[in-house]
Amino acid sequence: MWKGLISVDRWAAGSQAYFLTHLHADHTQGLTSTWNHGPIFCSRLTAKLFPFKFPNFRLSVLRILDVDCWHTLSLTSPSSGSETTVQVMAIDANHCPGGVMFLFRGEFGCLLNTGDFRWEKNCERSKLARKMLVDALKDDVVDVLYLDNTYCNPSYEFPSREVATQQVVDIINSYPEHDIVIGVDTLGKEDLLLHISKALNTKIWVWPERLQTMHLLGFHDNFTTKTSLTRVRAVPRYSFSIPTLEGLNAMRPTIGIIPSGLPWVRKPLEGDDKLFGSLLTSRYKRSKMGSNGGEEISKMDGNLGSVKRFHKYIYSVQYSNHSCYPELEEFIKLVQPTNMKGIVSRSPCYVDPCYYFGRLCGINQPSQMLPQHEKKEGRSCYTELEKKRKRVFGSLGVHLSRLRVWRRARRGIKLAENESSD
Ligand SMILES: [Zn+2]
Repeated sequence: MWKGLISVDRWAAGSQAYFLTHLHADHTQGLTSTWNHGPIFCSRLTAKLFPFKFPNFRLSVLRILDVDCWHTLSLTSPSSGSETTVQVMAIDANHCPGGVMFLFRGEFGCLLNTGDFRWEKNCERSKLARKMLVDALKDDVVDVLYLDNTYCNPSYEFPSREVATQQVVDIINSYPEHDIVIGVDTLGKEDLLLHISKALNTKIWVWPERLQTMHLLGFHDNFTTKTSLTRVRAVPRYSFSIPTLEGLNAMRPTIGIIPSGLPWVRKPLEGDDKLFGSLLTSRYKRSKMGSNGGEEISKMDGNLGSVKRFHKYIYSVQYSNHSCYPELEEFIKLVQPTNMKGIVSRSPCYVDPCYYFGRLCGINQPSQMLPQHEKKEGRSCYTELEKKRKRVFGSLGVHLSRLRVWRRARRGIKLAENESSD
């Protein structure tokens, strides 16, 4: 991030201090159990989860940064060779357990790296983070904002997680006789699962490693590895696919729910809209039904396309731990950086945030939103993402090896006969 001095979520040798925003795999690429280039600064919760992700890691290199207070590091200036001071503050990113943004002050000026973050307007945690940020900045100008540009495109407008959570609960309630599988990552969306568990007064099945994480996070009562105790299972997202859901339905009626801000593959429905009826009429307006080849979309007031049924067994709910476009806009209006860069540069949807938001802070707007080879007409970002998702779906679960069957059984995507104890 600042050559020879500090790195954020980058693990190549050459920096004096390394900062980890959170433990998702795309932010720890290059970090291994034998990594040894310098001290790693992270939040207290990330430090607690760290050994679980990196067993045998030399934990003495971890340095805990408590949120909402300035920490001062003495480093060596790469330009002058003399001692230089770097101040850093961690601020809750409201993304996943332990996730923080970092605000830096030093000879490089004032830098803000959001990591992955969700900037919800009416969420208490975001309000607190906003206050921390405003208080920390005082009259400072952010020279460079490193922004979570995952959804840096006006196509991405989705509801708060509170609303999306209720949508998931409503879908589950609409299928009282069905098994439910929900695709989640190895970390994140705990609040969603916890809410479902409380609202339905049931435990939620999770795979054994996920149960360990839940216990580490202090959730001891709402999760289980016993399939006989519940009809709701949270399964790894990579194991969630159309063929898998079709296979499960050959055994028991099962509905899959994928909570994500990303658009998922669209597949025409064949007939039956009765199953969806109760959901639409109970809470939502029917805004669009089958006009694009069978896809059904329900619409919350003011929230476009927040629930999609793109397959007869699968719903996509826009529950996201990343900020959507209007939230990014709101954030940038607040921060008013002198310059900004997207942190998701390797994504096929990379959009220079200056393209859309430069006007908000007087930055020259690039004439192209994407590199030329990726630029397509209209919403190219959206299209590329959909293609990528389609490839993922196409490659999953058609012919399962014995090992994969075993893994899926263990991770709940098939009904397991041998249960682990919790
Ligand atoms: Zn993340």
